Amino acid sequence: MRQTVIKHCAVLDVDQGILSRDRVILVSGQRIEAVLDPAAVDPRLLAGAYDAAGLTVMPGMIDCHVHCVASDMNLARNAVLPNMLACFRSIPILRGMLNRGFTTVRDAGGADWSLAQATETGLVAGPRIFPSGRALSQTGGHGDFRVRSDILEPCGCSMRLGNIARVVDGVDNVRLAVREEILKGATQIKIMASGGVASPNDPIHYLGFSEDEIRAIVAEADGAGTYVMAHAYTPRAIQRAVRCGVRTIEHGNLLDEETARMMVEHGAFLVPTSVTYEALANDGPRFGFPAELMHKIDGVRTAGREALRIAHRAGVPMAFGSDLLGETHEQQSNELLIRAEVLGNQEALRATTTVAARVLNQPDTLGVVRADAYADLLFVDGNPLEDIRVLLGQGERLKAIMKNGAWFKEGLAS
Ligand code: ZN
Ligand code: ZN
Repeated sequence: MRQTVIKHCAVLDVDQGILSRDRVILVSGQRIEAVLDPAAVDPRLLAGAYDAAGLTVMPGMIDCHVHCVASDMNLARNAVLPNMLACFRSIPILRGMLNRGFTTVRDAGGADWSLAQATETGLVAGPRIFPSGRALSQTGGHGDFRVRSDILEPCGCSMRLGNIARVVDGVDNVRLAVREEILKGATQIKIMASGGVASPNDPIHYLGFSEDEIRAIVAEADGAGTYVMAHAYTPRAIQRAVRCGVRTIEHGNLLDEETARMMVEHGAFLVPTSVTYEALANDGPRFGFPAELMHKIDGVRTAGREALRIAHRAGVPMAFGSDLLGETHEQQSNELLIRAEVLGNQEALRATTTVAARVLNQPDTLGVVRADAYADLLFVDGNPLEDIRVLLGQGERLKAIMKNGAWFKEGLAS
């Protein structure tokens, strides 16, 4: 089994907020074998080791809300890309994420098992992917990109790789759709439980799916040993989803205190995606976001920052999400800056490591630098606990990046 030894590591424990200097990390295969004091390591091993020279070593970051195949900011246009082109266009998006230090992502609609296999086997450089397959949307919901003037024949959306969602209605049909997505390799099920910004026919306050449908979706996901994540903005939509058993709420910009308390009672997570509203507002028109949808952004953009405070005060666990589209993918790390401005550096870091790992049901194997975890390691020039900006941009301050025990960026002397 491939073994790698790295010395002079300043290992960051994100939850404790402490830096342990001069550690030696032993990596065996895809996993961390041990994190040790140098005195406990055979000097011959140390002699041949990589030298981190005091760089901060933190766990690879996790983004719990991305769309790997959303290469066009106009989702309706993205939805009709030829499958091969949609696939090829996702390749630089995936590489960019890994470059910025995101070694794991949960895809909220679009990526499937094949894309996850491509990065897992190293065929394509990119993060480990937890795919949702196609998100489920009701007719006229957030995943229905047909225009009003279409003849509403059965939607061909489930055949298109570039379509992040599929349209499905009725209890029996949603059950079948969940079973199909699970069969095709979805690791969790995504639903559109309220109106959204980037879709043509559904104002934010619309609800998505009936309660019967949501309960059926949750039951099918549960039967397959997994859970449901729901796109939802308003208190009404969030409360309904949580009451029906949804485990993670995506966006949640209009969250109020009562709803936050209810989320805590039900053990639900919030995955805010603040950066995407900045990107849509600032760069949407330039990159082809539909002009007729721009008015939807203001209604959720400012409220989203307040939702961070409300959720934090109530004790709702919050994981990192970015939800960027098209050319704005490169702004992914700016979500850290927004979180840090509102909640501080440590909360921002926890969101993208330990809390995100809990969302993925991988608390011991992802988001931590310790024995038995996957060897997903970032070697950072600077301490992000003190200055979150070292993680911004396109990974310029990441001197080396390891994913699954293999170097993606091999910047350490040996
Ligand atoms: Zn959404
Ligand atoms: Zn999304």
